[in-house]
Amino acid sequence: MNNNFQESFARLKAIIQEGRYSSLSDVSMEIPDNFNWVRDVFEPLIVPVHADQPMLELVSEDMPQPVTFTYREEMDRCNQLLNFLRAKGVQQGDRVFIMCGLHEELWISYLAAIKGGFVLIPAASILSADDIIYRFEKASPKVIIADRDNVAKMDQALLSYKSSSVVKLLLDGEQNGWISLSVINGEKKEANTADTQKNDDLFWFFTSGTTGMPKVVVHTHATYPIGHLTTAAWIGLRQGDKHYNISQPGWAKFAWSCVFAPLNFGTTVFIYKQKGRFDAAKQLRIIQDYQITTLCAPPTALRLLVQENLGDYQFSLRECVSAGEPLNAEIIKVWKEGIGIELRDGYGQTESTCMICNLPGSKVKFGSMGKPAFMYDIIIADEGGRELPVYETGQIAVRMDTGRFNGVFKSYIGDPEKENEVFRHGLYYTGDKAYKDKDGYFWFVGRDDDVIKSSDYRIGPFEIESVLLEVDEIVESAVVGSSHPIKGQEVKAFIVLAAGSIVSRGLADTIFAYCKGRLAPYKVPRLIEFVPELPKTISGKIRRVELRTAEEQRKAARETG
Ligand code: ATP
Ligand code: MG
Repeated sequence: MNNNFQESFARLKAIIQEGRYSSLSDVSMEIPDNFNWVRDVFEPLIVPVHADQPMLELVSEDMPQPVTFTYREEMDRCNQLLNFLRAKGVQQGDRVFIMCGLHEELWISYLAAIKGGFVLIPAASILSADDIIYRFEKASPKVIIADRDNVAKMDQALLSYKSSSVVKLLLDGEQNGWISLSVINGEKKEANTADTQKNDDLFWFFTSGTTGMPKVVVHTHATYPIGHLTTAAWIGLRQGDKHYNISQPGWAKFAWSCVFAPLNFGTTVFIYKQKGRFDAAKQLRIIQDYQITTLCAPPTALRLLVQENLGDYQFSLRECVSAGEPLNAEIIKVWKEGIGIELRDGYGQTESTCMICNLPGSKVKFGSMGKPAFMYDIIIADEGGRELPVYETGQIAVRMDTGRFNGVFKSYIGDPEKENEVFRHGLYYTGDKAYKDKDGYFWFVGRDDDVIKSSDYRIGPFEIESVLLEVDEIVESAVVGSSHPIKGQEVKAFIVLAAGSIVSRGLADTIFAYCKGRLAPYKVPRLIEFVPELPKTISGKIRRVELRTAEEQRKAARETG
């Protein structure tokens, strides 16, 4: 192994743990061509140091006691699983499809896949059989791993998938046609590492599908595990932390913050398996009772958590971060008033690791995503690849031609057209619009497709949604462009009210008046519609595209009818 790499990794880790973030750019890190994160980082640098510490602590509503596994135990079980899969004929490069809920055996599947050089395809347990068929067709897996809750859907999808030699592994219990994970107990606790290259495929991730059908994103042995040092820096992980990330397996955010950021640091990953719908009060009690030190949650969960009386709890929290969607200033304000900690936003995509963030201890400008993370050279670009001046809105883009390592993905499976669209002019275009202020802070405006074009103005929905959230009766909203014969589009807000608030003309007038006082006239919503809930992706992101389409269909029906 290249000692220089391991030294650089150790230096970066020490800098992050000591919070000396300004020194991060002093360390140059070259990842050797021949690279496997489990062999080169996890086994030599993490497991020996944290061998007897819990890697996982899982609390479930249907279990009387928390389940814990140490780093050593997880490494042993990773090797046993790998030996078993190899004995079944699974080889380097084969694809492993995994779909389960928050199951304690998930982590060994990730580790075994990396060590064995398999390509891992994580899927969310909420997917339907049709979603699974779509994924099987794209991915042709050789191994399928599931938990009991998902076997029926998997079996149904397998009827349409013609491969005969699939290894079907069940994480819990027994089921006809499935091999129970307990078979690995007899395997050896040592295993060889596959001879992987740093640019080999490691993950095929499906994006959230907020704007259309999910894309299949390829990450490599380098881009993902090492790229997530930016995620660890953003969270601000320290020795002895217990990290809780509110997320479900299958999405990139889970791999970011439940796997790679903490496992690069020997942190304990805390998991809470709650039955039924998200219950904000229960979540807060768990965060208090299990003495969580670092918390990561998406805005969709935070908007519910801040409805509770935060001052009623005694938390052990040191760092709180949010990612996945834009974080409204109002949430940061209420969180800070209730808990005394600033919620720090971090921006990234399935296609990347954490790219822009507010680091611990830095000045947070409420409503800004922060500054570029240390591995990323990020500009606001126009369509011709030129950097735009401060305060001008353009696409967030990553410079890819500097020779510097970062965590940007390698390719989209089966979509060269999309690839050519995003990799242009030596840049990776994220498809998100933002501007930068004079202090270097980035301000999210909206997804490219969500930006409203009204008269000569370009209007981002995020700013308007953030103002709407300041109205007490409003829990969340989605702002979209509704077609208009003269202006092109006019601003329309779909609004969800808090429990107990009643829809009325008077309330609509109050909201309108509030917006007039807080927003430039062209940004004030001209149309308001109260709705019981907003359309969201299965990972909880607002699908404005769905609202736009429904709006236009309704208008067309009115015109023809
Ligand atoms: P699809 O690409 O399939 O339409 P998606 O873009 O929602 O789905 P993800 O990769 O899960 O899939 O999400 C990344 C996107 O989420 C970003 O491009 C951005 O639009 C949004 N996002 C993530 N974090 C933030 C943040 N902190 N602030 C604003 N937007 C964010
Ligand atoms: Mg996307």
